[in-house]
Amino acid sequence: MTNSQKKVSALAIASLALAIAGSVRFMPFGYDVYHSLGLSGLGPFVLFVSLVGFAIVLGIAALLLIRASGYSLKGVSIASAGLILSLATAGFFLTVIFVLRPRLVRHYSICGRNIQMIERARSAAGQDENYYAEPAKQIERIIEHLPNGRLPECPGGGRYTVHPTGYGDKCSKHGDHATCMQGI
Ligand SMILES: [Zn+2]
Repeated sequence: MTNSQKKVSALAIASLALAIAGSVRFMPFGYDVYHSLGLSGLGPFVLFVSLVGFAIVLGIAALLLIRASGYSLKGVSIASAGLILSLATAGFFLTVIFVLRPRLVRHYSICGRNIQMIERARSAAGQDENYYAEPAKQIERIIEHLPNGRLPECPGGGRYTVHPTGYGDKCSKHGDHATCMQGI
């Protein structure tokens, strides 16, 4: 049998096809592509995760079968590409779920507490009769009433905007108190 007559492993092709279909969803443009096809929500999301899982299984199965055939089947590079792509996607997915997302949730939570602290400092500063007498110094007075006499630090590197009256305090990165609570 000549090289050109060798059959390409169908499993290898299936592995690569599933890896591409599953991984595109997790690429920056993938969400928009699938969203425009009406594929948003938890169901399709689980489907794409499953595609990546199947791609890994099929990629391994294809490589084992090709080896068992004594390499009379072709498709090692196709199966390897499917396996690498699906493993990389799975790695990215697990990093988001177990590292990036919990960190983001923690940041929103800390930032929400910091904004509450600023709100309390404004209430405390408002008890001082000079507070209303000197509008130009109101923000300064609020900051003086914060722990250590300075603005707290946003864990995500955002900057706080302090409002002298009412509730308009916010973080440049995580939004106001309500947004921070939603982020959790
Ligand atoms: Zn923040």
